[in-house]
Amino acid sequence: MSSKPIYYEQPYAKSLEATVVALTDQGVVLDKTICYPEGGGQSGDRGTIGGCLLLDTHKDEEKVIYHMVKEPTFSVGDTVLIELDWDHRYHYMQMHTAQHVASGLLFSHFGIKTVSVHQGEKRLTIETDQEAIDERTCYELEDLVNKKAREHHPVHYEVHSHEEAEHLGLRRSIKVEDAHIRLVVVDSVDTVACGGLHVANTAEIVLFQYVGQEKLRGHVRLIFAVGDEALAEIRENRSLVSRLCSLHSAQRHVLLEVEEQNLSQSALDRTQLQKKSLQLVSCLLKEKVEKASVFKGVPVVLWNIEDDMDLKQLGTAFTEYEDLALCATKQEKGKLLWLVGLAGKASLFFDFAAERNHLLGGIAGKGGGKAPLFQGVGSGVGETLFKSFMELIG
Ligand SMILES: [Zn+2]
Repeated sequence: MSSKPIYYEQPYAKSLEATVVALTDQGVVLDKTICYPEGGGQSGDRGTIGGCLLLDTHKDEEKVIYHMVKEPTFSVGDTVLIELDWDHRYHYMQMHTAQHVASGLLFSHFGIKTVSVHQGEKRLTIETDQEAIDERTCYELEDLVNKKAREHHPVHYEVHSHEEAEHLGLRRSIKVEDAHIRLVVVDSVDTVACGGLHVANTAEIVLFQYVGQEKLRGHVRLIFAVGDEALAEIRENRSLVSRLCSLHSAQRHVLLEVEEQNLSQSALDRTQLQKKSLQLVSCLLKEKVEKASVFKGVPVVLWNIEDDMDLKQLGTAFTEYEDLALCATKQEKGKLLWLVGLAGKASLFFDFAAERNHLLGGIAGKGGGKAPLFQGVGSGVGETLFKSFMELIG
């Protein structure tokens, strides 16, 4: 039981006839396969086997290759046709080769080592040993890789004994214990031990684009797009810029300026809006105060707010009063927001800290503040809080 791999001999084979050897819980085993199993930062092959969907390919520790086929309709002994999802596979071969070229150049030109690599559906990432890499270096690297693509460097394989390979001074240490090591040589660019699949010539990378970077374990991880994905990246950016230009009725070279003006105008508008809204809250509070019942010379306002008034602004409006007792609530996202203000003579009604449990117990209220203003959240209805508030005022 093995699924003998022939993807190294025939990396460009898109289809192959094979015999089904076993149907196991882990997947289908064939006598031979062109499907690359997940490993070395490269995803497993997909496609169809005997017309059934091949979802993924993986291998176990014994190097048996399993094909994850969705509802196989074939049996052991049947001859089946493997057909690869070639776009998927070829993109991985391009990314893998671009990674070797990029990691080789990062090391030879900038002294930057590669710590780990990952080839995703759309992006290639290289984790470096650096804490920071400036953009200029990244674009220089982009130019260098694209130059290597234009120069058509062949990619070939060499098999060396482990000992021989150890003495070749490779930029990356050999991670496998096998007696014979497979080296991937990008002529005049890079040589490393690798068990992945690559294109035959750097020309097939077509295009290499630096997309950005992120931090990972304190290291800079560089993000790239390769081949068709690099083209798609350029087109997406171009279409985004055109849409922005048309939205702002501006030409590309002034787009940033226009956007900066818009942002500062919106900040100004927001400030104006807040000012207006505070004025409105002040007017509404004034109205409530004028209609409020007066207790020991202090107006007492109980207010169940039903519109989208900001309680913070109500707090600000409250500070305009010398003597005022205010108890306001508002339902928001299933919670009861509350605000209690005891200004001037109202501060003599009760001590918030001492009466906190009495006041807030009924609404399971949380929160606090500093005299004269307290606020927080609770549950239930405003009337419960108003009742305890009035009990405390006496
Ligand atoms: Zn490789």
